[in-house]
Amino acid sequence: MSASEPWSERRKNRVTVPASCDTCGGARGFANLLVTKLPDGRVQFDPHVTGVCTVTVEEDAARTVMNALARWLG
Ligand SMILES: [Zn+2]
Repeated sequence: MSASEPWSERRKNRVTVPASCDTCGGARGFANLLVTKLPDGRVQFDPHVTGVCTVTVEEDAARTVMNALARWLG
C-alpha cells in the first residue's frame, strides 16, 4: 500500500466510484458510490457515503451484478 494510491484503493474491502444520483440531481459524477464487502460476505452499496440509505445484497446477487457488468463492459 502506498500513500500515493487513491483512497478507494487503500482499503481492499471498499471501493468508491464517481456516480450520479437521479433523485438528488446534479452533474454526472457528483455523488460518490461506496461499495463495501462486509465481513459476512454480503456487498453493500452506499450511494452518498452517508450510511443513511444503503442497499445490501447477498453474495449470489453481487455475482449477478458482477457478471452483468462484465458482459456489458466487455
Ligand atoms: Zn441522492
